[in-house]
Amino acid sequence: MEYFIEVILPIALPQTFTYKVSEAEFDYIKIGSRVAVPFGKSKFYTGLVQQKNYNPPTLYEAKEIHQIIDAFPVVTQIQLKHWEWIATYYMCCIGEVYRTALPTALLLESETIISANRNEEIITDNLTDEEYLVVEALQQQSSLKITEVTSILNKKKVLPIVHQLLNKGVITLQEEMVDQYKPKLVRYVRLYPEFNEANKLESLLLLLKSAQKQKEVVLSYFQLKATLKKPISVKELSESSGISTTVIKALIDKEIFEEYYIQQDRVSFDEVEESQINLSLPQSEALQKIQQGFDNKEVCLLHGVTASGKTEVYIKLIESYLLQGKQILYLLPEIALTTQLVSRLTQHFGNKVAVFHSKYTNNERVEVWGQVLHSSEKAQIVIGARSALFLPFQDLGLIIVDEEHEQTFKQVDPAPRYHARDAAIVLAKFHDAKVLLGSATPSIESYYNAQIGKYALVELSERFGNAVLPEIHLVDLKDNYFRKKMTGHFSQFLIDAITEALYNGEQIILFQNRRGYSPVIECLTCGHVPQCPHCDVSLTYHKFKNQLRCHYCGYSMAKPNACHACSSIDLTSKGFGTEQIEMELSSLFPTKNIKRMDQDTTRGKYAFERLIDSFKNREIDILVGTQMLAKGLDFDNVSLVGILNADSMLYFPDFRAFERSYQMMTQVSGRAGRSEKKGKVVIQTYNPIHNTIQQVTHHDYIGMYKEQLYERHIYKYPPYFKLIKLTLKHKDFDKLKESSMWLYQVFKQQFDIPILGPEEPPVSKIRNEYIRTILIKIPQEKHLGNTKKAIRKVLNSFEAISQYKAVKVSVNVDFY
Ligand code: ADP
Ligand code: ZN
Ligand code: ZN
Repeated sequence: MEYFIEVILPIALPQTFTYKVSEAEFDYIKIGSRVAVPFGKSKFYTGLVQQKNYNPPTLYEAKEIHQIIDAFPVVTQIQLKHWEWIATYYMCCIGEVYRTALPTALLLESETIISANRNEEIITDNLTDEEYLVVEALQQQSSLKITEVTSILNKKKVLPIVHQLLNKGVITLQEEMVDQYKPKLVRYVRLYPEFNEANKLESLLLLLKSAQKQKEVVLSYFQLKATLKKPISVKELSESSGISTTVIKALIDKEIFEEYYIQQDRVSFDEVEESQINLSLPQSEALQKIQQGFDNKEVCLLHGVTASGKTEVYIKLIESYLLQGKQILYLLPEIALTTQLVSRLTQHFGNKVAVFHSKYTNNERVEVWGQVLHSSEKAQIVIGARSALFLPFQDLGLIIVDEEHEQTFKQVDPAPRYHARDAAIVLAKFHDAKVLLGSATPSIESYYNAQIGKYALVELSERFGNAVLPEIHLVDLKDNYFRKKMTGHFSQFLIDAITEALYNGEQIILFQNRRGYSPVIECLTCGHVPQCPHCDVSLTYHKFKNQLRCHYCGYSMAKPNACHACSSIDLTSKGFGTEQIEMELSSLFPTKNIKRMDQDTTRGKYAFERLIDSFKNREIDILVGTQMLAKGLDFDNVSLVGILNADSMLYFPDFRAFERSYQMMTQVSGRAGRSEKKGKVVIQTYNPIHNTIQQVTHHDYIGMYKEQLYERHIYKYPPYFKLIKLTLKHKDFDKLKESSMWLYQVFKQQFDIPILGPEEPPVSKIRNEYIRTILIKIPQEKHLGNTKKAIRKVLNSFEAISQYKAVKVSVNVDFY
């Protein structure tokens, strides 16, 4: 009899692959465990076993695997089912889902690049001969492909060695070389057995009689051991004896102390006293209604105004699932938000909280993966951005999707282009778990689902305690410019409000949505604006570096002194971003501490956290920022929020522009007056009577919802129609035009549903590739699965046309 396994490979091919194994391997291998397999001429991948069977493949000769990596599954059956759902629903390959789901360190392949971990002192005694060879090679060259390790060691099966080296912290994967590594091995000491008894103390002290300091260390050690009853680290010993570690080193050299290392969890929180929460009456009513809602619905939407205390309600709900021993997943739209939340949750749940997100190093991610897989108490509650959805949960009880309206829950590139909220609801179903969606400004889709009874709906319409919703003032920019009441981009009204808040010792948040409104350099003589040579966009002016930069491809050039087109030196900057606002503020309020929060100032691993902390500690008076500021942050001393220009969001060419503008403005406003003092919001706009702005002013979510729902109905958008966007890219303009027309016409002929396009998007060229899009709208009454199959069929025949081969097509289901 022959034995085969079906393996998922982390590549964008639609099928799984069959490999041959021996009978012993067949018995040993478990579904959901990893195997290293050859692929093509000389490559190998880490594959995942999806099935075991006895049927050889019909189209090719099955190769043998290189080796089995895991003795036990690292992926659960539920995950495999979930991946399949994602691949089918979002029209991508299961290999792409696999690649996204697993931390890179679990996915080593022939092309993976490793290098020495420079933040770690290498302890070579710890290494086997083969490991040592690799480390030695890495001292001569800065990095190695794993294929090169194969030739250094002269064997095919090198993955276990690489895994070991990663575990020991001796090497890192190339991608994270920029990351600052935290030490993960803590050095401990213990006495050699021959000294390790109380009655040996005397002879030991005698031995050290001429070394006073070493004697003191030994005494300290015995004291610590008596009180601590746990391993003693070198650091502790040095601190408690007040004697430097070199003395301890001497004792190690004398072979009195033995040193050893214990792997610490990289992410550990200090033990904290669990604090009690008493829910207010509206909060406990809401909690009760959520629990009742879960009696007959899988999903509940909590619509609670900003600062109503949704987080406190979540915490109470989590408690009840913890008691049942279930795992809990808490999804956040942005890793940036985790700091505040982690400290709030650890206050209640201590070390049961684990964090998982992309800014963590590979080792940190692998560790959380293992904890979740083994239902470790340390990761009973997992907080994370969308990728946390892919962790190997064993017994999930509850998923919370906080700020469910946020678009960052949707992955845009690369595939799988999934929406974490929607994928979470499906995952919950597989676990028989419940989902709580929370927001002050729910997405139209979720609120609609609640209205039609698909989700339970719970409203929390008051702020917690004595806090009330802020008062919103509109400033008419047209009128203010006309009457010369503007200083730069600030109206007198806003300046007065800032002055007053500062006078009262309160803090201020100013919001400038840079999107579509970045500063550019324009020639006053001929009107020329420098463009990116590779993309269809103007270059953005960065004053601080005196550079022009492309936000799409990263191209940059020094700011020109004269116009490239006509050589005139009359250049001016137009439009404004956060940077310019920050400068204007500094000249208006020169003595105040003003800081900016945007993508440019929050790049480092902890940059965002540092800004938030110092704002929270009131070291910053005014914080200027982009939409990053709109997301669920809780500050108690902010009395004023200013929105410098509301219009740039309103007129963004997107069917969600008004919904988004409402959400953004309401969320930023929600940062004001979150405790005793009433907050104030100033919105500067050219359109004070615009419906959306009026709805924001009157906290009228329902008004916004009804108006938008009506428009969605008329113009055929979600929730009434499902959208699938196809994006075609090619370097050759004519070929792209022709091929997208071909595709459009085939769709038009075969489907009696709205097909739009092929359209040139607002940015129609990126990195020298031209872009066209086709939008497919699927009405509710059409069978979604069948329509997708039919679309896939057309795409397959498109890909089979030889002259269109180089045209790249990407599919985005539920395009946002
Ligand atoms: P939301 O998430 O709805 O915007 P938060 O959960 O951040 O609101 O709550 C707003 C503020 O009110 C927070 O500082 C929170 O600590 C406080 N708060 C809310 N509910 C309670 C409660 N029951 N007891 C004590 N403080 C509360
Ligand atoms: Zn010019
Ligand atoms: Zn560019």
